[in-house]
Amino acid sequence: MSSALITGLLPWHNSAWQQAQTQLEAGQFSHATLISAGADTGKRHFALMLAQRILCRSPQQGFACGACVSCKLNAAGNNPDLMLVAPEEKSKIIKVDQIRELKKYIETTSHALGKRIIVLDTAEHLNVNGANALLKSLEEPPADVVFLLLSDRPRSVLATISSRCVSLKLPAPDKQQALDWLQAQLPQSKGERLEYALDYTQGRPMAALAVLSSDQDSEQEQFGVALLKTLRHEELATRTAGRYYKTHAGELLETLAYWLSSLAKFQVTGNQHVLKGDSLHQAANLLNTANPDSGRQARRLLQLYEQVSQAQTQLAGGGNPNMQLLLEDLLLQLQSLSGKELQA
Ligand SMILES: [Zn+2]
Repeated sequence: MSSALITGLLPWHNSAWQQAQTQLEAGQFSHATLISAGADTGKRHFALMLAQRILCRSPQQGFACGACVSCKLNAAGNNPDLMLVAPEEKSKIIKVDQIRELKKYIETTSHALGKRIIVLDTAEHLNVNGANALLKSLEEPPADVVFLLLSDRPRSVLATISSRCVSLKLPAPDKQQALDWLQAQLPQSKGERLEYALDYTQGRPMAALAVLSSDQDSEQEQFGVALLKTLRHEELATRTAGRYYKTHAGELLETLAYWLSSLAKFQVTGNQHVLKGDSLHQAANLLNTANPDSGRQARRLLQLYEQVSQAQTQLAGGGNPNMQLLLEDLLLQLQSLSGKELQA
């Protein structure tokens, strides 16, 4: 229920961290804070680091010391004073049972007679029942309990929850900060590869790191090939959708979003460097031949990009959209960009 000792403040979190330290030192840190930031920009990292700082017996210059009993428990990943609550695997929501377990936890005495921290990732993954079960604990928490609620989309958090929390908004990194950080994590990687991963993940460094640390590079190209085949009408949009909607809808949408934004950028600037990967180059050539009016083509690409973004939001929001139909519709629209007849 806990995690290893987290060190290394993300550079784009510097001033938010300072703000939290000032409040902690003045004894004014709220018992419930809603920490919001764009997805995959490191807010869980920030929250766990903050939790470890609060639990530390002798913080050094505003950071966990790494040597006290509490820090050692954190490093071992089993500090009973830190509880992380997140949707269980494959589930999109935090279940009411998990909140009951949390309540049972806060009703027991603290292990160290110090603070206990609950990190809830994320608050929009609470359904109404879970939120209701949590309300009383948020309203009248035991004196030693600190809640750190995380959110990608604070406006989607139920008002009954957010109104009981102090809001702490974390900034997103700018591109250079994200690239420098990625380079520090993966010193062997070429800058060009890092930039590609960052573009592909729409500027989200944690997602880019996950892509770079796995075999997703080749997986990306696989989705690219599938999109190119669809665009060329070599494969029915319904078939492509049918193949991916159950298991890889998120990845396909991510690749499609990356394609559309890159292709639109190319239409506007004419700069070949924005096109990463062989299939994307071929797609750009195909679109140019189909419709030489680059301004109009760019507008259509961006309109479709908007729709893909909305589908991504729906998917991330734990709603239950009909993914097969949604993907079919988006892929049919992609096909129509190449100027040929729509297939039935
Ligand atoms: Zn310590």
